[in-house]
Amino acid sequence: MIEILFSIANFQNFINYEIFVDFDDSLSIIKGYETIYYINNSKDTLKYIELNLYANAFRPNSKYNQDIKNKLKVKKTEIDRSKPKDWGYIIIDSCSEKFDTNDMLMRVYKTILPNETTKIFIKFTLKIPKLFDRLGKAEQEYEITQWYPKVGVYDERGWRTYGYRYNTEFYGDYANWKVSIKTKKNYVVGASGYLVDSIVNDSFKILTYKLEKAHDFAFVMSKRYKVEEINYDSIKIYILHYSNDSNFIKVAKYHSINALKIFSKKLYPYPYKTLTIVESHLRAGGGMEYPALVLITNPKEFKIRRFRLINSKNYYLAIVIAHEIGHQWFYGIIGNDEAYEAWLDEGMNSYLEDYYNHLVFNDESIYNIFGNLRKIIKFYLGNYDFRLFSDYFVYLEPYNEPILGKPAWEMKNYWQVYNRGKNLMLALQDILGDSLFDLILKEYFKRFAFKHPRSEDFIKLVEEISNLDLTALKNQWLYGKGLPNYSVYKTINNTFLIKGTYKYPISTIIDNNLLKLKPDTIINAKKIIIDPYNRVLESDEWDNTYPRRFEIKPFFNIPKMGYYQISYIPFIFYNPFDNYFFGIYLRGSESYKRHFFSYGGNTKGDFYLGFWENNFLFNLKFVKNIFNFDFGLKNKFIQLIVFNDYINDLSYLDENYFQKSNVWGIKINGFYKNLKIFSKISKDFLKFNINYNFNILKMLNVQFSYYRIFGNYPVHERIYIDGGFLYPRAFEILLPYKGSWFYSKYLVFNDGIYSKRGENIFSDEFALSEFKISPFGIFGVYSSVGWTGKIYIDYGIYLKLYKIELKFVNFNSFIVKIN
Ligand SMILES: [Zn+2]
Repeated sequence: MIEILFSIANFQNFINYEIFVDFDDSLSIIKGYETIYYINNSKDTLKYIELNLYANAFRPNSKYNQDIKNKLKVKKTEIDRSKPKDWGYIIIDSCSEKFDTNDMLMRVYKTILPNETTKIFIKFTLKIPKLFDRLGKAEQEYEITQWYPKVGVYDERGWRTYGYRYNTEFYGDYANWKVSIKTKKNYVVGASGYLVDSIVNDSFKILTYKLEKAHDFAFVMSKRYKVEEINYDSIKIYILHYSNDSNFIKVAKYHSINALKIFSKKLYPYPYKTLTIVESHLRAGGGMEYPALVLITNPKEFKIRRFRLINSKNYYLAIVIAHEIGHQWFYGIIGNDEAYEAWLDEGMNSYLEDYYNHLVFNDESIYNIFGNLRKIIKFYLGNYDFRLFSDYFVYLEPYNEPILGKPAWEMKNYWQVYNRGKNLMLALQDILGDSLFDLILKEYFKRFAFKHPRSEDFIKLVEEISNLDLTALKNQWLYGKGLPNYSVYKTINNTFLIKGTYKYPISTIIDNNLLKLKPDTIINAKKIIIDPYNRVLESDEWDNTYPRRFEIKPFFNIPKMGYYQISYIPFIFYNPFDNYFFGIYLRGSESYKRHFFSYGGNTKGDFYLGFWENNFLFNLKFVKNIFNFDFGLKNKFIQLIVFNDYINDLSYLDENYFQKSNVWGIKINGFYKNLKIFSKISKDFLKFNINYNFNILKMLNVQFSYYRIFGNYPVHERIYIDGGFLYPRAFEILLPYKGSWFYSKYLVFNDGIYSKRGENIFSDEFALSEFKISPFGIFGVYSSVGWTGKIYIDYGIYLKLYKIELKFVNFNSFIVKIN
């Protein structure tokens, strides 16, 4: 069932907050004195008021802490492991009315008639936690957000008081604010709102801020903040930083003015007198929005070097700043329910971020994050549409789910709301055209500024202005999952047919003209490109162009939408059994659909040909005048393969048999978690192999196996164990196992076709160990030592690409004779 998501020109309740904050830094405590004037604009008589006690999230028995355990599947969270002095909570010391509390919910029992204003006074104590997420102290800085008893929203659905939940943001009614903060004199304070009064004496100061028509109020305090002040129009911009990092200040200055200018013009004038940018220690992502105040983590502070690197050329920092400032519109001016309809803020704001990115950085942005590697990267990326590719992730499991119907904390992947929301906006922009789309955005703000529109309010507005039926569009992006697809096909009459999952017209280049085409159109042309600006994210981008686009690169490809990509790796291979083999590996892929081809041959006329992709496998071998092949279907759990084999698993038993055998049969292989079953069934024999693989201390990978052949051949069975160190992945050692069969998967290349070394050796005296080092990831050296009645030594280098391991074996290596 889909909830009806209208607010239908409803009432909005309004609040006046007056809060006095007495901050004690020695105990990390705030004593709060909060007066609430609640205006009931609904037609309902309210029996009580609900408030959020968000700060109670940061102690072990909270719903929020339980959310983390459920979502991350951990037994203990950081909160559980921390000391009570690091926890956060809020205690209601007194209230002017009867009340009760439960975890993050407070209910104040007071009857409020329609159109009545009521006054409530609450005295509370806030214990400031260590910064676990968004509220708390980190190093010397206090980031005071979600901190006071905050009235929930009473809307057409009743009270919406969600508390602080995993991944979830907030929902609040618009209010006017007067907040006075008493601190020691040497604290520098930044706040939502503008300063109206300051009282300073020898030891403390009281700063009073006001803010109108905002649904939250946050502030920060630190003794070491420095403040940079700049002006844009009549707006004062404050940049608070603790690091003195001139780069951070420079980027914050430029992009705060730039973003204010661009978004004010595109959507609605920025409504507040100030904007405060705070250099933050934030744990939840790179930034967080509050009315007239944004928290931005300096990428320099990222603990992991890899994350610091993504900010080379300041691209990342600039985008985070633009994103958080964008929230002043999609969150601040339009205050949607962020728990149930988060796409209205995060999705629309991601569209805005994307717009900013395109306008300010153009297509160079992607290269900026690669810094010095840009030349090589550019060779592989070409004209890369990073957005298109990263957005394609929404289509993949587990990202693929509808974005309406569930609260954010129940979603499998919250990033959905960013991506699907943005892609709905981009698709809409293409359908409506830029000017009508911009007009509708402006109208959305005109009509819903300082209100709580619902998803259907937006859809209705677009339908009203555009005269279009958006049912298919919203079912695709909001209520549905998966992606639409447009495609072009050549017909037998040499015309082109445009197809589309939904029937909205789409921008299409026909020869050299840009037109809007409706699906099911037949057209005469030489060249067609559907959706040339990549506004509609599709399940298949390759079928958008005619002629189809291909890209061929050596060694590898970076997955790119819209192209069929081929990479090639030439190889030379030698072993004394097969002599030289020359060949080439080809890997073909279309976004996530991958195909592999390989071809190899030697001077004696032997060849090998293979083709396999995610679900299909085909191998053809012609070695030593013997022909064999296998083909089949496979997926994650089961493989079904038909084979015709000369060199089968029995060949070592009898050298003559090796020449004679021509066996047809099927392989049925099953995989489930650590368990693997391989079976080969033919009319003469059944081979059965079951492996159980497990890990000790995440280091030693051990495999137990049982192997048996039933049939007309000498029946035998064996039980064996092998394994290797996988961590730190620098080497692998096969454990020797003496006195039984030993099977080494590592010594055999590609199902044994090139080499019989070490595979299925029949000896009671066999033992072997192999050692591998790969200091450069894909290259490595290996050596093996074994005993098969004779000493067995082998060493060489190897190359590992994808799942393919190429071994350049030592020419003098001893070949284990087939018995
Ligand atoms: Zn955001």
